[in-house]
Amino acid sequence: MQITENFSLEELTRTSTGLPNRPGKTELDKLLLTATYLLEPVRKKWGTIKVTSAFRSEAVNARVGGSSTSQHAKGEAADIVPIDADLDEVFGWIVKDGGICFGQAIREKKGGSDWIHLSLPRINGPNQQRLVFDGKGYSPYV
Ligand SMILES: [Zn+2]
Repeated sequence: MQITENFSLEELTRTSTGLPNRPGKTELDKLLLTATYLLEPVRKKWGTIKVTSAFRSEAVNARVGGSSTSQHAKGEAADIVPIDADLDEVFGWIVKDGGICFGQAIREKKGGSDWIHLSLPRINGPNQQRLVFDGKGYSPYV
């Protein structure tokens, strides 16, 4: 089911774990906000982006080693890889010039893979938080 111009529910609930991954009503609403306010602006500026992980059920999140407070489990976050543009260039735009309101933007690198984690803003924040994850720990993005 297409939920915004360029994103489908299937891409936002895909998992390679083989576990059930069905969002509830609250998580569906959040996925719509994630697609509308985080993914579409990046897609419109930079072309095709691959969503490697968005919603994760508790079981899926546990299986992939996600944090227990992960916004992925709420439908509030997506991991993306630009297909038509350079990842660092896209990340730089998101955190500086994109005009996107986010909770966290994290430039992540782990086990030979690179992606951008982007999440919705949260009440009480921290919001507009820019981080780098090198596979071991987080540091501020400068
Ligand atoms: Zn993530």
